Amino acid sequence: MITMQGTKYLSDFEAKKAIIDLGKRMYLRGFVAANDGNISCRVGANTIWTTPTGVSKGFMTPEMLVKMDLSGKVLLGNRKPSSEIKMHLRVYQENPEVMAVTHAHPPIATCFAIAGISLDKAVLPEAVVQLGTVPVAHYATPGTQEVPDSIAPYCKDYNGVLLANHGALTWGKDIYEAFYRLESVEYYATILMNTGSILKQANELSERQVSELLKIRENLGIKSGGVPAGAQQESNTRDVVDSRPGTSVLQENQYHGKLVALNETNQMVREGSGNAALLSIHTDRSKDEIIAEVVSRVAEQLTHKGG
Ligand SMILES: [Zn+2]
Repeated sequence: MITMQGTKYLSDFEAKKAIIDLGKRMYLRGFVAANDGNISCRVGANTIWTTPTGVSKGFMTPEMLVKMDLSGKVLLGNRKPSSEIKMHLRVYQENPEVMAVTHAHPPIATCFAIAGISLDKAVLPEAVVQLGTVPVAHYATPGTQEVPDSIAPYCKDYNGVLLANHGALTWGKDIYEAFYRLESVEYYATILMNTGSILKQANELSERQVSELLKIRENLGIKSGGVPAGAQQESNTRDVVDSRPGTSVLQENQYHGKLVALNETNQMVREGSGNAALLSIHTDRSKDEIIAEVVSRVAEQLTHKGG
């Protein structure tokens, strides 16, 4: 670590080591195929180390890396930087706090980039706090000046962006934060894909729950990252014990001080608690039979808890 004018930078050795290590992780996680992807890391106010073009990011050695200044001039190294380095340089120019940038084509995030769907649903507290929302920047031919222009509006207020029909770009105050954000983008996209397109059901965090998370984010000193809207109604505040349709219409049953209730879809639930009475009730039985089962199973629960 080197300190220059009050700012801490990785040394050349540390930066090259981190780029090679994270390149391997990027490749092994399937975020890139063949020679795709690129990583850069600032080592001074105006200098970066970056990955070369035409090399798999899983198999890099220190002598393959390229040192450049922020205007794009190569300072050290025998290889050429990627043509995609233009978008890295633009992030550094737009946001002086950024110390590293990562770019890859993680498959699920890339599907969102192709579909033109931004990552903006409030479904994961971690994503709200650490990442925020991730916009899709309009399509630009890879390697051209249009790509940096397309991402420029997002470099300050967001932590990453999806590139339409292309992939994902993330940045951070150090190289690990930039890479973790790339991982988080893919994870967030995977969860949204599974809940939205496979389960076709998701309880979104409410506006109130999102605002609580934004306070945590602020306390952590994270000043960037978009804000997902959040749902107006809270739909995730009850335990769900039996999600099968057609369960009993029994509305509410106060027994031994333990509230047992059914939600709108007649799922047996217990308000705001992780240790729900484990009950499942079916409509093909009489009300008396149902109540008898409720009584016996709640009594069983109470006995197990020593109460
Ligand atoms: Zn790319």
